[in-house]
Amino acid sequence: MAGHFIVFEGIAGSGKKTHIKFLLGKLRAMNKEAVSISFPNFVSDIGKITRKTDFDPYTLSLLFAADRMNFQKIIKTHLDNGRIVICDRYSYSNFAYQSTRDVPLDWLMDIEKNILKHETVFLIDVPVDTSMRRIQQATMENFAREQILERMRGQRHTLEMIRQNYLSLSKYPDQGTRWIVIDGTKSIEEIQSKIWEAVPAELKFR
Ligand code: ADP
Repeated sequence: MAGHFIVFEGIAGSGKKTHIKFLLGKLRAMNKEAVSISFPNFVSDIGKITRKTDFDPYTLSLLFAADRMNFQKIIKTHLDNGRIVICDRYSYSNFAYQSTRDVPLDWLMDIEKNILKHETVFLIDVPVDTSMRRIQQATMENFAREQILERMRGQRHTLEMIRQNYLSLSKYPDQGTRWIVIDGTKSIEEIQSKIWEAVPAELKFR
């Protein structure tokens, strides 16, 4: 694989989309070929199914994993062509979220053990209150925002567990994966300069 595989993780509203857009822009301005993919991929057939809410957590975990599996050829082709692939969420979302629903972590890791491994994970860490405040202020349709906030209000405790799961997982990295934990409460500019500072060492260019 000649390219580089980066993943952004963090709870909803932590800033993943904002920083992925920034990173794509900076890389492309340097004439680096970079692409981004979001998981769950709500335009793919499998991703769409995950939006149904009546799955038990094991089935849902398998569907999320299958959604990623279905993109392996695409990701591999990008990497083989020397491109930088940036994913908004990947396997660690399954690990951090579904393990709060009593799905054993080793089972979750097992079902994703054969998928392409990312090399760099940027974890954007924010308290749940911060992410909810940001979603409250975000420009989006009122209906969509209310739906997200309603779900988050009912899951405040779980979201805090998910945040802690991410932090614990970052301390035990997979072989070949580096975690860069970013304090997501800082300003967008401060965070982006931290991300950009880490990029040369990660991507081995100056
Ligand atoms: P995610 O993709 O993790 O759900 P987004 O990138 O969509 O998060 O960010 C959610 C909202 O928070 C957006 O309106 C974005 O502009 C805002 N935001 C992101 N990072 C920051 C930050 N560091 N400070 C203030 N607002 C932020």
